[in-house]
Order: sequence, then C-alpha cells, then structure tokens
Amino acid sequence: MKRVLVTGGAGFIGSHLCERLLEAGHEVTCVDNFFTGRRANVRRLRDNASFELLRHDVTEPLLLEVDQIYHLACPASPVHYQYNPVKTIKTSVLGTIHMLGLAKRVRARVLLASTSEVYGNPLEHPQRESYWGNVNPIGIRSCYDEGKRVAETLMMDYHRQNGVQARIVRIFNTYGPRMLFDDGRVVSNFIVQALQGNPLTIYGDGSQTRSFCYVDDLVRGLMAMMNCDGFVGPVNLGNPHEMTVLELAEEIRELVGSRSEIVHKPLPQDDPTRRQPDITLAREKLGWEPTVGFREGLTKTIAEFRERMAS
Ligand code: NAD
Ligand code: UDP
Repeated sequence: MKRVLVTGGAGFIGSHLCERLLEAGHEVTCVDNFFTGRRANVRRLRDNASFELLRHDVTEPLLLEVDQIYHLACPASPVHYQYNPVKTIKTSVLGTIHMLGLAKRVRARVLLASTSEVYGNPLEHPQRESYWGNVNPIGIRSCYDEGKRVAETLMMDYHRQNGVQARIVRIFNTYGPRMLFDDGRVVSNFIVQALQGNPLTIYGDGSQTRSFCYVDDLVRGLMAMMNCDGFVGPVNLGNPHEMTVLELAEEIRELVGSRSEIVHKPLPQDDPTRRQPDITLAREKLGWEPTVGFREGLTKTIAEFRERMAS
C-alpha cells in the first residue's frame, strides 16, 4: 500500500487512474482545481475511506506526505488550453516545479504526464523517444507544447541535480468514457455530434492522422511506468493504430448508427499532419502494449456517452 497523489485526478484520465489505484489497495489523494475536471468523475470514490479529494491549484505550492505523485494537472484539449494560454503554461511550469519540490522534500517518486505534442508537427514518422520534435515556439499550441517540454526539462534537471526519482511519459491521443461532451477533442466531438444527429465537423480535409489509445490501456501503462525501477524515460504510451480524421468520422458514424452529414471547417493553425507512436521502448522496458481494439474501445465509449446524455 502506498500513499499516492494524483494531480488533475478529477479529469478524464486522472479519474480512471484514481479508480485503478484504489482497486490496487493504495491510499489516493486527488488534487484538482476543477477547470476541466468534475466532481462527478470521482463521485463514486467519495465513500472509499482511502480516497481524499482536495480543491487545489498546482500553480500554488502543496505540502503532503506521499510516496508517489502522478502529475496530470493540465488542460489537454486545444479548446481548453487555448482559453487562457498564460494560465496553461503556468500550470505546466509552476505546477511541475511544485510537484518536483514536493517529491524532493518527501523523497517521493514523481511521474509527469507529458504528451506527443512535444514532437510538434513531426518530421519523423512514427515518432520515437529519441526524436527532438518540430515545435513552433510562438504559435497558439505553444503554451501547451512548450509548457510540457519545459516540464520534461525540469524533471530531468531535478533528477540529475537532486536525485529526484522522475518518470516521464509521453501520452498520445487517448479516449474513453468520461470525456466531457464539450471537451473539444475529436473523438468526443464526433460522438456527441453523431448521437445528436448534428453534422460531424472535420477540420481541414480530414487527411491528417492520429493514433487513438483506450483509456484503460493508458492507465495500465502509467502504473507500469511508475512502478518500473531504474527507468526515467521518456517513454511513449499510445496505440500505434493510425487513422485519418475522415476515417474516424466514418467509423463513429457507423458505430453510432447515425446519418449525420460530414462538414468541413478550417484547419486550426499548427495542427499536426501525422502522429503515430513507436512503442518499442514501452514494450521492452515495461512489457506494455495496448490490448483494447479501436472498435471495442469506441463501442464502450459511445455506450457511456449515450447513458450520460440520457441522464
Ligand atoms: P483533462 O482536462 O480531463 O484533465 C486535466 C485535469 O487537470 C482536470 O481535472 C483539470 O481540472 C485539472 N487541472 C488543470 N489545471 C489545473 C491546475 N492549475 N491545478 C490543478 N488542477 C488542474 O485532460 P486529460 O485528458 O485527463 O489529461 C490529463 C493529462 O494527460 C494532462 O496533463 C494532459 O496534458 C496529458 N495528456 C493527455 C492526452 C489525452 O489524449 N487525453 C494526451 C497527451 C497528454
Ligand atoms: N478535429 C476535427 N474536428 C473536431 C475536433 C478536432 O477534425 O471537431 C481534428 C483536429 O484538427 C486534429 C484532430 O482532429 O487534426 C485531433 O484533434 P484533437 O483536438 O482531438 O487532438 P490533437 O490535435 O491535440 O491531437
């Protein structure tokens, strides 16, 4: 049994992680400022004596006695992280400094939820951890991309300079139950649009690609990385199954059984054209790979969206 802190624990991935950690017998403190997280996401955990929920903003210091810190606090959808870009970069930079300071003080192990966005609009495909990326430092996605890149730098510097036990995970597009209806990311947008019979909004011509990982697989990978000794990373976690946004729209329309039309909207600035993880390192070091197929994961996600919408 470990005392585990999850920042951003009331968010999409964080809430699934809190659940798995409690099931594994740990004591979990979930910290969130509820920007994109919801109390409802962790409501069912409230009665568990090993679970504690704290409203706290990671841009402020935090003192707790813990053994492990999963540092997920940061809005992940472009719509949300671009709403207040200065706050986004403060969350990544100050938030990571505070979590590293805490880890240093109480000798906790800390895992950073970094992102495939550190590769920017990648010139190497698929992306390996050794690739340094192609990131615009002054664009509208930079508050997020560069924020996470600095967060990775901080992790490595605290590790080298102070001996902090750091773990860096680069998460690729993840989807699943509990994504917000108005999250703005492509999978949730298309499911909501298809369920409501509204047009599916494809940005650009839909030829850009992404590779989508089901949340249960991702959470298993996060826990494997946290508990792996002697490996700091960074490590890619994602599903290498790559598809175009147009293929995604057609697949979701079919699974929902919707006759929604497809409409095209302008492609946002700096939208990466291709993205696919090379997960060789995760396979070798963690023995991890995704097991949930895309149709299976989508079917579960659509079912949960239907249920939530009905209630
Ligand atoms: P999310 O928006 O659902 O969760 C983020 C959580 O952090 C929310 O609960 C939010 O309220 C909280 N938060 C934001 N700013 C905060 C602050 N200053 N202080 C305290 N809490 C704060 O997003 P998610 O998809 O669950 O992403 C979780 C983490 O994983 C993020 O760090 C994100 O960058 C990373 N990630 C996610 C994906 C993905 O596809 N979902 C891909 C790459 C990286
Ligand atoms: N996208 C889209 N329609 C939407 C939302 C997103 O076509 O309603 C596109 C977006 O331009 C991008 C891809 O889907 O090319 C994935 O977008 P998302 O915001 O989910 O993630 P990210 O761009 O951060 O990978």
